[in-house]
Amino acid sequence: MLARAHDTEDWRTLLASAVTDARELLRRLDLSDHPLATTLQQGPSFPVRVPTPYLACMRRGDADDPLLRQVLAVASEEQSVAGFGIDPLDEAGQNPLPGLLHKYQGRALLIAAGGCAVHCRYCFRRHFPYGDNNPGRRGLEPALDYLAAHTDIQEIILSGGDPLMLDDDALGWLVAQLERIPHLRRLRIHTRFPVVIPQRLTGRLVDLLANTRLRSVVVLHLNHPRELDTGIADAIIPLRQRGIPLFNQSVLLKGVNDNLTTLTELCELSFDAGIQPYYLHLLDRVAGAAHFEVPMAAARQLYDALAAALPGYLLPRLVRERPGAPGKVALAPRWEIS
Ligand SMILES: *Cc1c(COP(=O)(O)O)cnc(C)c1O
Ligand code: SF4
Repeated sequence: MLARAHDTEDWRTLLASAVTDARELLRRLDLSDHPLATTLQQGPSFPVRVPTPYLACMRRGDADDPLLRQVLAVASEEQSVAGFGIDPLDEAGQNPLPGLLHKYQGRALLIAAGGCAVHCRYCFRRHFPYGDNNPGRRGLEPALDYLAAHTDIQEIILSGGDPLMLDDDALGWLVAQLERIPHLRRLRIHTRFPVVIPQRLTGRLVDLLANTRLRSVVVLHLNHPRELDTGIADAIIPLRQRGIPLFNQSVLLKGVNDNLTTLTELCELSFDAGIQPYYLHLLDRVAGAAHFEVPMAAARQLYDALAAALPGYLLPRLVRERPGAPGKVALAPRWEIS
C-alpha cells in the first residue's frame, strides 16, 4: 500500500507538541485581542491540551468555534453549580479492582491508560486522579486475572483516559494477554485520539486490530461534523478495508452541537466516512462543565427532530449515565405507553 500523508508525521511528536496554554491557543487563532481572552481560567487543574491537527480545523478569528469551545478553559469552569460534582457517576465505588469497571452484563471496561491526547472540558473524568500515568504491565495483571476468572465476560472494552495513549508495543502485549482468555470474544476500543491526531492509526495498530482472534470494534468520539476534517476520515480507511466496525459516540453540548443542522450533519457525514452513529450522551453533571448543559426539555425536542430527520439506522441512541444504574439509561427511543 502507498504511504499515506498522515504516516509521515509521528503521532508521538504531535502528542508532545500539543498546545497546553489557553493564551497560546487564542494567539494561534488570531483571538488574542478578543474579549474572550479576559475570561480565561488561570492555571486550570485540568490543563488545556490541544493537538495541532485538531487546532488546524478551528476557524481563525471565531471565538464561538465549536471545536475551540470544547477545549478552551474558561473562568466559568471555576464556579460551583448545584448538581454538578466531582464524581458524578460514583465510579469510585464501582471498581472491583483499580482500573476495571464491571457493571454491565457480559462486558468489562479496562482503564488501559491514564491521560488523553486532548482535554475536553466537558469530560466527566476531568477530576480523576490518574494523571498521565499508565498502569503498566504489572498494574494490569490483577485486571487480567479478574477477566480470566469471570467466564461471563465476552467483551473487553479498552478505555481510559484514552487507550491509544499506549504505544503499539504496549497495546500488542495487552491484546496478546487478552487473546489468551478463552471466553473473550470481542475487543472494543473507545477512543478520541485518532479524531485529534489521525496519525495514531499506524499500519501496525491496524494490523493488530485486524489480526487478533478477537473481533475488534472501534468506537470513536466525534461531537461535530468539522472534526471529520482533521484527517480522521482518511485515516480510518485501512480499518474499514480490514472489516473493523466503526461507531461514534457524541456528547450533546451547548454551543457545540445543540442544533438540528449540526447533529444531522454529524450523523450523515460520519456515515459517509464509514462510521455508524451509536450514542448521543447527555452531559455528565461534572463540576466545571455546567456551561455545556442542554436543558432536558430542549434535548428531547432536539432529539425528536433528529429522529424525524434521519433514517432509523443513522439515529444515535440518546443515553445518559446514572450513578448506580446497571447500564446507560436510554432516554429514547422509548416504549409507547398506550
Ligand atoms: C458504557 C459502558 C460500557 C459499554 O456499554 P455499551 O452499552 O455496551 O456500549 C461498559 N462498561 C462501562 C463501565 C460503561 O460505562
Ligand atoms: S478524550 Fe475522552 S476521556 Fe479524554 S478528556 Fe476527552 S472526553 Fe475525556
